[in-house]
Amino acid sequence: MKNCRQTFSAAPHPMFPAGGAPLVPSSDAVYLEMNRMAGAYPFVTLSEYGRSVLARPLLYICAGTGPRRVWYNAAHHANEWITSSVLLKFMDDLFSAAQMGGSVAGLDAARLLRENRLCFMPLVNPDGVDLVLGRLGQSETASARKIARNYPAIPFPDGWKANLQGTDLNLQYPANWEKAKEIKFAQGYTGPAPRDYVGPYPLSAPESRALAAFTQAGSPDVTLSLHTQGEVIYWRFADFDPPGARALGEKLAEASGYALSETPPVSDNAGYKDWFIQDWNLPGYTVEMGLGENPLPISDFAAIYTRMAPLLAVAANG
Ligand SMILES: [Zn+2]
Repeated sequence: MKNCRQTFSAAPHPMFPAGGAPLVPSSDAVYLEMNRMAGAYPFVTLSEYGRSVLARPLLYICAGTGPRRVWYNAAHHANEWITSSVLLKFMDDLFSAAQMGGSVAGLDAARLLRENRLCFMPLVNPDGVDLVLGRLGQSETASARKIARNYPAIPFPDGWKANLQGTDLNLQYPANWEKAKEIKFAQGYTGPAPRDYVGPYPLSAPESRALAAFTQAGSPDVTLSLHTQGEVIYWRFADFDPPGARALGEKLAEASGYALSETPPVSDNAGYKDWFIQDWNLPGYTVEMGLGENPLPISDFAAIYTRMAPLLAVAANG
């Protein structure tokens, strides 16, 4: 059996070919990669926590037997798809190191999995990511284009952040949602849009609703949401000061070289981390990876990963 598993591990890597540039994380590529991991690493579980507007599965992988629950999500925002690639690569590096008795970013991988239960949701917005990557069918693309026509200043599809209904999935959570609505409506985002539309009511979008329900059921101790860009880590929401949040944030900043922001952005309401902090008073972070204009090119992957792998490992180290 052991040999069999080793053969699995050496199987061709669908998203991160040896010696080549990573492939872009279309939903097909992400599912293939997650299935490969589920086959290669007997200690991980692959499951579904919901479905997207286009009924694509929202998949997650968990690993580890420890009491501390750390949850990572990526690609709430469609044109921030590079976050998916970064999280998938980290998962594979972590699992591979745990299997071989190695380390990630200098931390013993098997120990991280003994001390934690780590869960990964690498593609929160599969439909939107496929739209930006040009991987949707004509009719689905046409319906998005129709929404985008009302916002001619936003490039299509490169400026698309929302789900296929034109709802911004990270403006959907019941944490100052009314305030987010006021701000975004004043900016002109009063209906379905490529970005910044808060939706008709909190958790109206199936992708956000599924992640919220899954989070409530799983009660993580720490959450990290990966976005681009800015090389900054946000840890505040309103007047909350979750125990240990600043200290862990400082470790994340030190590991990555990213700045730990002391102030929430003016429009930082109704996001996943805001809601997580508000409802649990536990550490929740938004990490804005990389620098440049979204979507960041896949050629930025290696440089971003160098910064992010230590950050993601340190989050599990506590
Ligand atoms: Zn974002």
